[in-house]
Amino acid sequence: GRSPRMAAIAAVTNYQPLSPPLDFTNTPAHVLFGQNVFSKSVMKDRLPKPIYKSLIKTIEAGEKLDPAIADVVASAMKDWAIEKGATHYAHVFYPLTGATAEKHDSFLSPDGNGGAVTEFSGKQLIQGEPDGSSFPTGGIRQTFEARGYTIWDVTSPAYILENPNGTTLCIPTAFVSWTGEALDKKTPVLRSMQALNAQAQRILKLFGHADDSFVASTAGPEQEYFLVDRHFYFARPDLFTAGRSLFGATPPKGQEFDDHYFGAIPERVLAFMLDSERELLKLGIPIKTRHNEVAPGQFEIAPMFESANLATDHQQLLMTTLKRVAEKYGMACLTHEKPFAGVNGSGKHVNWSLGSSSQGNLLDPGETPHENAQFLVFCAAVIRAVYLNQGLLRASVATAGNDHRLGANEAPPAIISIFLGDQLTDVFEQIKGGGANSSIAKGTLSVGVDVLPPLPKDAGDRNRTSPFAFTGNRFEFRAVGSNQSIAGPLVVMNTIIAESLDYCATKLEKAIGDDPSKLHGALQSLLTELITECEPIIFNGDGYSDAWHAEAEKRGLLNLKTTVDALPELEGPGVKEIFTKYGVLSERELESRLETYLEQYCLTISVEAKLTVEMAKTLIFPAAVRYQSQLASTCANLAAVGIEFDTDTLEKITELVKGLQDSVAVLEKSLTDPDEQSTLDHAKYFAGDVLPAMATVRKYADLLEGWVADDLWPLPTYQEMLFIK
Ligand code: ADP
Ligand code: MG
Repeated sequence: GRSPRMAAIAAVTNYQPLSPPLDFTNTPAHVLFGQNVFSKSVMKDRLPKPIYKSLIKTIEAGEKLDPAIADVVASAMKDWAIEKGATHYAHVFYPLTGATAEKHDSFLSPDGNGGAVTEFSGKQLIQGEPDGSSFPTGGIRQTFEARGYTIWDVTSPAYILENPNGTTLCIPTAFVSWTGEALDKKTPVLRSMQALNAQAQRILKLFGHADDSFVASTAGPEQEYFLVDRHFYFARPDLFTAGRSLFGATPPKGQEFDDHYFGAIPERVLAFMLDSERELLKLGIPIKTRHNEVAPGQFEIAPMFESANLATDHQQLLMTTLKRVAEKYGMACLTHEKPFAGVNGSGKHVNWSLGSSSQGNLLDPGETPHENAQFLVFCAAVIRAVYLNQGLLRASVATAGNDHRLGANEAPPAIISIFLGDQLTDVFEQIKGGGANSSIAKGTLSVGVDVLPPLPKDAGDRNRTSPFAFTGNRFEFRAVGSNQSIAGPLVVMNTIIAESLDYCATKLEKAIGDDPSKLHGALQSLLTELITECEPIIFNGDGYSDAWHAEAEKRGLLNLKTTVDALPELEGPGVKEIFTKYGVLSERELESRLETYLEQYCLTISVEAKLTVEMAKTLIFPAAVRYQSQLASTCANLAAVGIEFDTDTLEKITELVKGLQDSVAVLEKSLTDPDEQSTLDHAKYFAGDVLPAMATVRKYADLLEGWVADDLWPLPTYQEMLFIK
């Protein structure tokens, strides 16, 4: 019969566009926006005024939720949801795997007389009890202990999730153990936002802004992804099981022409984009940007930035929505960091800033000397935080998948550094030159007196190789992996910058005492100190070059190449102190994260290794020996009739088959060997022994792909998968 690959090629060729197409004329995008969200305006319409006001205080000012209002809110939410066709409600939560989890319950309750009523109480809204026993807890919760609880997060609005056969009311929640420990990604985000707000307020107060509007961290994540036709996807066990191809020779044409980047978007892909954007708009996710990315078959989608907690929930929804809608268009959306070797991987650039409704964006350089001085404090606090916590930042993006990007053959490197741009670097240099006595010598800047030279707000010639770049009014953390929840990186950024602001505020408060006229002098010496101490982290050059690796080493910057190098940073000096001091993670919670992430790493590689063995044995080896046998019989037949035939190809195939067999045996053995004590040792074993053994198997398989007859080759090739139409 026809091989799955050949069947896939035929099916792809016969793709028919979906009909009827979407129509934005009848319901324009702005009408769709937020249609499925239990938003502030819906609440205002449907809730009694005092209850609405109380709820808004919790949402906007971070005040404690008044449980007494929950029944009324729940009832309004239920009515709204049922009008939109909902039969169930679901507490949605974010376990440490980085995935999204949900537990669905029906609104329906028998009335005792053979009928039924719908029910949704305040208690059911506030707290749920999913059977979360299968989620990783890194040792926090033993199976014999009580279950985890989901707790309503009032600051992230409930929404309706549509399905062709009905809808569900979804309620974003935190997931905690019965002892109150965070078992999830959301809880620490909320805590770190509180910490950041508290410290930012102290700085603002020194600048005379003593109002209390909440300073929130803001996040705008740019998501990169690949699309492949689903027929190819299902003909590749590696893609649908591990999310990345474990085999595949480099195609004759890769990304070297750069003709895909910002080229016209293929029609089927654009149809998919329009449909997924429509779904995201209904969910109130402010989608803004779409374009092709560098690699063939690679694309990007970016929403406008939002408050970090909301942006994190929306990011999770975005990933699931892309995957769901891609299916509709006969494609699979891959968010793995490196689905295809030899072409660009996918990242998730997390744009980060902080701001409040009264002060606006605090990383926006101002128009007046006073505004500029304040900006410089926030900016310098970020620089200090990144410099002192390189390891922690690196650890926050450490996953098995992201190892194929960071420190491998593409930007950004695993070395954390900051791109400031020439102008801002120059500003800091001048401040440093000015010294503590606000000298007015030429070429120096006096903080709080001079206005900054205009900084480029636009990104034209931006440095794309820097892992942490200032981009005019925000920082962009580019080392985040495409498949990651952005929660972890945000928690780290919020917490270390809170600590840094604390440091700055304490210094300034001390220096100023009760004499506000001392502010400028105090700022000048603080900024001079910070920039002198933290200068090694600033690097405006090419982060991709070998020269930078050497230079970074000279500067004493960390270069943590892999996950097993980076994750132990979570127990590095000062890390426990920083997380506990600001109430973001307790010691046990921090330990549980290290344990869980190491486990995830081991699990990922273990699955990939088993798949490598299975595919090598059951797909690649059979194809190779079939071809070998065809060649052998050709040789024998020709010899029988006296024709001499060159056996080079047969010998080559035989050699490669032998290499494949031997390397598979080594890999299989490596999987039975590990007898390591700790999870870290186990992870190191996977990194040091199993991964290289997998690479050897792949080497032989990919070479065979270049020799075996095309009609016998079982796996869709890179060429076929990447050039999606
Ligand atoms: P580029 O590809 O040039 O980096 P994009 O337009 O793709 O830029 O993405 C920039 C992202 O940065 C958007 O999500 C945008 O909303 C976000 N952003 C802008 N200002 C801020 C801010 N103050 N805080 C956080 N993110 C921001
Ligand atoms: Mg971008």
